[in-house]
Amino acid sequence: MLRPFREYNVPLHPYTKGTNGMAKSNRGKALWKLPSRGRGTCPVCRATRIKLLYTRTLEDGVKAKVCKRCRAGA
Ligand SMILES: [Zn+2]
Repeated sequence: MLRPFREYNVPLHPYTKGTNGMAKSNRGKALWKLPSRGRGTCPVCRATRIKLLYTRTLEDGVKAKVCKRCRAGA
């Protein structure tokens, strides 16, 4: 059954809120907004060009983005 165009767009589905189309904020195009598309050198394991997806507080109190291999080792 057809409804006016506006009715199809409101209310927004929870997953479509904002610019990120999906809830998976660590995947896909969401990373492209980040510098280097979310990639860099992990300060813990020194892996280069790896995706730094997690913020971890290092032992000296500095917050750093680490790769998923280093996330659990806190
Ligand atoms: Zn790492």
